[in-house]
Amino acid sequence: MKILFVAGDPKPERWTVPIRELLPEAEVHVWDANGPAVDADYAIVWQPPAALFERETRLKAVFNLGAGIDGLLAVPNLPPHLPVVRLEDAGMSVQMAEYVLHQLLEASRGMETYREQQRQNVWKIHRPIKRSEWPVGVLGLGHIGKRVARTLADLDYRVNGWARSEHSLDQVTTYAGTDSLHGFLGATRVLVNTLPLTAETRDILDYRLFSQLMPGAVVINVGRGEHLVEEDLLRAIDEGQVARASLDVFRQEPLPADHPFWQRPEIAITPHISARTLRDATLAQITAKIRAHHNGEPITGIVDTARGY
Ligand code: NAP
Repeated sequence: MKILFVAGDPKPERWTVPIRELLPEAEVHVWDANGPAVDADYAIVWQPPAALFERETRLKAVFNLGAGIDGLLAVPNLPPHLPVVRLEDAGMSVQMAEYVLHQLLEASRGMETYREQQRQNVWKIHRPIKRSEWPVGVLGLGHIGKRVARTLADLDYRVNGWARSEHSLDQVTTYAGTDSLHGFLGATRVLVNTLPLTAETRDILDYRLFSQLMPGAVVINVGRGEHLVEEDLLRAIDEGQVARASLDVFRQEPLPADHPFWQRPEIAITPHISARTLRDATLAQITAKIRAHHNGEPITGIVDTARGY
């Protein structure tokens, strides 16, 4: 079995050494833009060049080093019937739950107010939190959205969840499909986006959507930058409909130094770190799936490329 690693990491041995340990039966190669075809059976990729699919014509499956496969599906020449396998959780959902909880607490517990008081040596106690004032809505109830929803529900926040299909989750009110979006948004003050980027979800976080949230809304985007219409967020903040936004992903990354978001005190910016790919968990999952696939066993996480996730 031949495996080709294609991820543009300046130190590919950080990946290939453990891959060889986990799959001693495999011959492991690193992508060389100028090299010949290696006739790989499997490719492990992150944002691969289009040349990969021109040169490697014997691939049986391609394994993405991330949960979101929008970047991979955009690569020209991706053969339409080649199985694309996404990362399933692999330690990301717990990080995402932590990140979202942190951003929620900043708002619901007024942490910025206490930091400001400390800067002024002020000891002042504000009224305790009323959870009923902070209903959360999670867009997407997949590996990540479910974990986020469960974590916040366990802390007694009122949690709504929205997905394409019906879901049943303890202590979470679930909504399915476009027709139910309005009801979901109307019951939500803190909106958390964990959707994948598809033709249907691109630009979903727009002015119309913000207008349907409860006033003084909080928007937490950990999906993709292209979900958010940036000027619409600024307008909703200026009008007071959105009080605060926590953004981890952006249309252009790194976020340009002159981008208006940097200057807005209502916006908390992080550089796409809400859930990092953890190498050990990632490679354990991918190599186990490669072995299973090679042995003709079924594997999970194969993307429906027509649906886009
Ligand atoms: P997932 O398991 O595939 O879940 C996707 C969820 O979105 C599903 O519940 C799905 O509904 C729902 N959905 C998709 N299209 C929809 C639509 N048109 N209308 C309503 N619901 C829709 O994906 P995941 O593992 O949770 O990851 C989600 C995304 O998080 C990734 O695609 C990636 O973009 C992002 N992500 C970001 C980071 C970061 O560091 N910021 C890290 C990892 C992942 P059904 O359940 O009905 O299918």
